[in-house]
Amino acid sequence: MSDPLAALQARHRRCHRCVDAGFIPVARPVFSGAAGQRVLLVGQAPGPVEVDEHRPFAGRAGRQLMRWFQRAGFESEAEVRRRVYMTSMTTCFPGRNAAGTGDRRPSAREVTLCAPWLDSVLALLQPRIIIPVGSLALSRFLPALRLDDCVGRVFGADGMEVRLPPPSDAGRVLVPLPHPSGQSRWLNDPSRAALLDHALLLLRDLLGWAV
Ligand code: SF4
Repeated sequence: MSDPLAALQARHRRCHRCVDAGFIPVARPVFSGAAGQRVLLVGQAPGPVEVDEHRPFAGRAGRQLMRWFQRAGFESEAEVRRRVYMTSMTTCFPGRNAAGTGDRRPSAREVTLCAPWLDSVLALLQPRIIIPVGSLALSRFLPALRLDDCVGRVFGADGMEVRLPPPSDAGRVLVPLPHPSGQSRWLNDPSRAALLDHALLLLRDLLGWAV
């Protein structure tokens, strides 16, 4: 296979590390994308709808995310999926949480097991915009910051805030977003809705720079 990213994806689809480690009963990695995409979206983990449909953000949280992206200038969900590589901190469904109130947050060990796949995507895709969605993805890219500190701001790969437009040699930039899941309570505070609005405006301004 001559496309290194496609070859990586083929190996990723066969991964069963978390089954071997006893975390999940079955591994069905969910991600989407192809070489040439300049925007990388990193969520927490797929849910059961995503597993059934074999595509990321296919459920209710995904519909909310697509509405956010349309506010950021994308014409349609189809355009989002055409332009954005979508993956997550762990790419198999982790199961429900113990209380039965939602999906289980993957453990640190599962994140570590899955990290080489994300590392390899970053190396091969070389995205110009990385969008960490939710606190778990944020911990990978901006570990010193909380959502309150960074939604509505743009950061360089070195973790320093970047003013727009980024310098031509900026390399890649990070645009953190909250998680669109109903499980996330972060947006219940109205002041945070303004942070999200600003983040989506920044993303709109950056999309032309990324291509
Ligand atoms: S979550 Fe990641 S590391 Fe774990 S089995 Fe799935 S693809 Fe492999």
